[in-house]
Amino acid sequence: MRALITGGAGFVGSHLAETLLDRGHEVLALDNLATGSIDNISHLKGRAGFAYAIESVTNEPVLAELIDRSDVVFHLAAAVGVKLIVEEPVHTIETNVHGTEVVLKHANKKKKLVVIASTSEVYGKSTAVPFREDADLVMGPTPKHRWAYACSKAIDEFLALAYWKEKKLPVIIVRLFNTVGPRQTGQYGMVLPTFVRQALAGHPITVFGDGTQSRSFTYVGDVVDALVKLVQEPRAVGEVFNIGNGAEISIADLATKVKALTRSESPIVTIPYDQAYEAGFEDMPRRVPDIGKLRTLIGYEPKVQLDEIVCRVIDYFRKR
Ligand code: UDP
Repeated sequence: MRALITGGAGFVGSHLAETLLDRGHEVLALDNLATGSIDNISHLKGRAGFAYAIESVTNEPVLAELIDRSDVVFHLAAAVGVKLIVEEPVHTIETNVHGTEVVLKHANKKKKLVVIASTSEVYGKSTAVPFREDADLVMGPTPKHRWAYACSKAIDEFLALAYWKEKKLPVIIVRLFNTVGPRQTGQYGMVLPTFVRQALAGHPITVFGDGTQSRSFTYVGDVVDALVKLVQEPRAVGEVFNIGNGAEISIADLATKVKALTRSESPIVTIPYDQAYEAGFEDMPRRVPDIGKLRTLIGYEPKVQLDEIVCRVIDYFRKR
């Protein structure tokens, strides 16, 4: 197949591009380098079947042309990272809603299969752990900017499902749970690369809040493997899937793990949320996926577990 990846120079997009090429597919990568980086795809530039365009998804003539030339669209281009979202809420909402709107509109003209990358953030403050795809979404109030991200992605999901229902555009929605691995920078606030960089530099490891909040981290290779399998499974169309790893860890324990695996002397410090983000910031206390639906459909089982993930991220930063 020939795949268009929006956000193809991003962290997940570049890994997906590489995996598709390794499996004999062709890739068109579209990225405006807002948070993506040309370094992420420089090793792919000479490969047969790979082409890229540095452009925004909102450049509709370019987008339409690339969609025409593709069999499937992986729409990964989005504003990501809680720090960025809190600091630039207008950009977040406009990028996420408008980008998806134009991708679906143009894909619909030729009825090309579209995968919409959503997020575990849509579960919001729900405490119904582990989160199932059919569970209620529990958002915080609109003055708290963090929730704009969840809402923008929930709108993307609604719109994609509406295209499927009303216009029979084939869509698949995936909710990614804290995806981590090499090439994720931490520049936009993601916790694992931030902790690893801090530990390697001997700087304090900054746990926000009291550190009892938990996350489940998924290796990027497991995520892209699931994405490639899903587009080859006709029964995935019109459905929503969690992609994650069920193993849960508190952020305080993650800090301890990173410190141990890097053999760092860094102190672990706690920083109140108000200082880390903004006054009144609300975090999600727990975030764990139910991966039963994905397991049943494509036999999904995450292969890389947290210690190995952390070691790979450490290796990546050491080499840089
Ligand atoms: N976090 C932290 N220290 C940091 C960055 C993040 O303690 O330097 C916390 C953050 O408050 C959240 C968790 O780590 O509870 C995961 O944050 P991240 O931004 O990676 O992803 P999120 O799950 O919030 O989307």
